[in-house]
Amino acid sequence: MNNKISKNKIYADHAATTKLDEDALLEMQKYQQEEYGNPSALYSLSRKPHIAITNARDTISQLIGASTEEIFFTSCGTEADNWAIKGVAFKYLGEKKRIITSCIEHHAVLNTCAFLEKIGFDIVYLPVNEKGKVSTLDLEKAINDSTILVSIMMANNEIGTIQEIEELAIVAHKHNVLFHTDAVQTIGHVYVNIHNLKVDLLSASAHKFNGPKGVGFLYVKKGIIIENLLSGGGQEKFQRAGTENVAGIVGMSIALKKNCHFIESNTAYLNKLVNYFWYKMNETELVYLSNGAEDRVPGSISISIKGANGEMLMHCLDLMGIMVSTGSACNSEKSEISHVLKAIEIPEEFAFGTLRITLGLNNTTDDIEKIVMGIRKILNGRLCS
Ligand code: PLP
Repeated sequence: MNNKISKNKIYADHAATTKLDEDALLEMQKYQQEEYGNPSALYSLSRKPHIAITNARDTISQLIGASTEEIFFTSCGTEADNWAIKGVAFKYLGEKKRIITSCIEHHAVLNTCAFLEKIGFDIVYLPVNEKGKVSTLDLEKAINDSTILVSIMMANNEIGTIQEIEELAIVAHKHNVLFHTDAVQTIGHVYVNIHNLKVDLLSASAHKFNGPKGVGFLYVKKGIIIENLLSGGGQEKFQRAGTENVAGIVGMSIALKKNCHFIESNTAYLNKLVNYFWYKMNETELVYLSNGAEDRVPGSISISIKGANGEMLMHCLDLMGIMVSTGSACNSEKSEISHVLKAIEIPEEFAFGTLRITLGLNNTTDDIEKIVMGIRKILNGRLCS
């Protein structure tokens, strides 16, 4: 499959989004143009879309070891995160209940918690160590009698660190507290099994695993009742109103199935590229830190280069046709280091020079050489420091 954006461009920001799988696209077109009936209607044009949703739910539930009735389709990962957290919290409106999360969550979780804090909930943000890991001891200490939910992401979107979700969930359950994980960066990239993870709620987003944008899902363990986020029709067993994104749901299930099938070989390939990146970086004279834990999302690199300006570096690389992300942002007033880099306490002279490079299967060793050469050229030319 030729995944190149254009012949000379290198896309290395797969944590931001991924290219839609071609088989998913083909099947999606069918549900946009031929089988476009509303799956809730009762006439013949609706039969196939209805069956397609049922099949997609079956496929997805099997891939993560869940039951069909535990999968609820959403419009994105952000909605799944909002629903999981608010869905639990809204059962306790007016009571000062505690929700525990970490300080390195995606804003889909952090801003949801900030909203709940504003309306009276008690939110505790757990710290992380220098690798970005949450400690079970800190979680144990933070849980009190009023705690209703713990929400810790499975993997971080900036530094790739994967948490010990099973151990954290066990601590929460010991105190009869529900556990949610934002698995947006891991589903389709690492082995995710609901029973091994022992979570009650789990969020996912299709566009992070070569599915379409605008669709995701929330896993809700059987027996757990959460409040609805959207009020309206009776879709998703009266729990998530809104006409289903049939094509999106179909595309998501195809992409997830394909990604899960090749997880092992994909991981081996991406590990090889990541190792090659660090090998090539070692050959340079640059002083840098590699951020995150050993246990991380395959293909993810977070590098902080001493004395560099990450945002300028990113723009200069873009001019060279290389697309990566950064961990800091400059505006006309001041420079900002991301909440994640602050939490893992990267020294400022390194933190401002952070790049997030997230590789995909279309990347090659040649791309790695070009990325490292690009960084070196820019910094040696002092174009961006
Ligand atoms: N959670 C994490 C960890 C993410 O990385 C993202 C997107 O970058 C989201 C949630 C939000 O997902 P979506 O873009 O589908 O709303």
